[in-house]
Amino acid sequence: MVVDIDKKSGFCFGVQNAVEIAEKALLKGEKVYSLGPIVHNDKEVHRLAALGLITIDYDKFRKLKNCKVLIRAHGEAPETYITAAKNNITIIEATCPIVKKLQSRIRKTWLNTRVNNGQIVIFGKPGHAEVVGLLGQTNNEGILVSGPGDLRKVDLSRPVWLFAQTTMSLKDYTHFADLLRSEMAEKGITEPDKFLVVNNTICGQVSNREPHLMEFAREHDIVIFVSGRESSNGKMLFSVCRSVNPDTYFISSADEIDKQWFEGKKSAGVCGATSTPKWLIEQIYGHILNLRL
Ligand code: SF4
Repeated sequence: MVVDIDKKSGFCFGVQNAVEIAEKALLKGEKVYSLGPIVHNDKEVHRLAALGLITIDYDKFRKLKNCKVLIRAHGEAPETYITAAKNNITIIEATCPIVKKLQSRIRKTWLNTRVNNGQIVIFGKPGHAEVVGLLGQTNNEGILVSGPGDLRKVDLSRPVWLFAQTTMSLKDYTHFADLLRSEMAEKGITEPDKFLVVNNTICGQVSNREPHLMEFAREHDIVIFVSGRESSNGKMLFSVCRSVNPDTYFISSADEIDKQWFEGKKSAGVCGATSTPKWLIEQIYGHILNLRL
C-alpha cells in the first residue's frame, strides 16, 4: 500500500509563531505560564510542559503576581491585559498577528456602531478562546451566532457588521451571510448591502486548506486525519475530508489506529489540522509504514 503525507498539514503560521515564542522564553530558563493550552493538541502541550511551560486557567491567572504569562495565538479580551497590569504580570505576546488585526478591526467598528446604531455579529464557536477575545473588543455587546438557528438573535431593522472567527468554515459563513441577506430582503429592506457588511475574516491558512484537503482526501482510498479532540479547526477540516471520502478516520495518537481499516485499500493519506504539530503527523505516518500493509 502507498502511504502519503500531506506536506501542507501541520501548524499554521500563527500557532507556529506562538510555539516558537514559548520555546525561546523557556530556553532562557524563565518561568513561563500559558493562559490556557497553547494549542488544542495534548501531545504538543505535553511536549512544551516537559520543557517547563505551565498551563493555567483564568482562576489561577487572577491569583498570580509578578511573573510572566504567555498569551496564545487565539488572543485575549482587554480584561486580561488589565488584570496583568494590576498584578505586575509581564505579558509574553504570542497572539497571532492576523487575530490581533481582527480584534482591532472589530474594536474600531464597534466604536462606530455606537453612533450609527449598528450591531456587531460574530460567527464563531461559543466559548472558543478567540471568540471570547473578539467579543471582548465590543465590551461583550457583540452578538455571537453559530449557525442558521441564531438568525433570530439579529435585529434586522438595524445595520449589521458581520465578522467570523478565523477558523470557521468559509462555506458555512457564506451560507449564514446569504441567509441573513435574504431575511433582510424578506423584511422589505431594499438595500441589504447597505444594512449588511460582510467582512471576510476567515484565515487563508484555513480556507486554503479546505479545497487542498478535499483534493488530498479524494486522491486516497483511506485518510487518517490527525488532530486534538478539542480543536474546532480539526473538527471542521475532518468533516471536509469526510465529505469527499467516507473512509476518513479521526485520530489523536498512533494507538487509535486499527489495522483493519486498511484492508483492501491501495493508498492511504495522512493529514491534519492547523493545530496539529508536524512531528505528530510524521510519527503517525511512520507508524503506518511500520504496519507493513
Ligand atoms: S488559523 Fe490563521 S488566524 Fe488563526 S492562528 Fe492560525 S494563522 Fe492565525
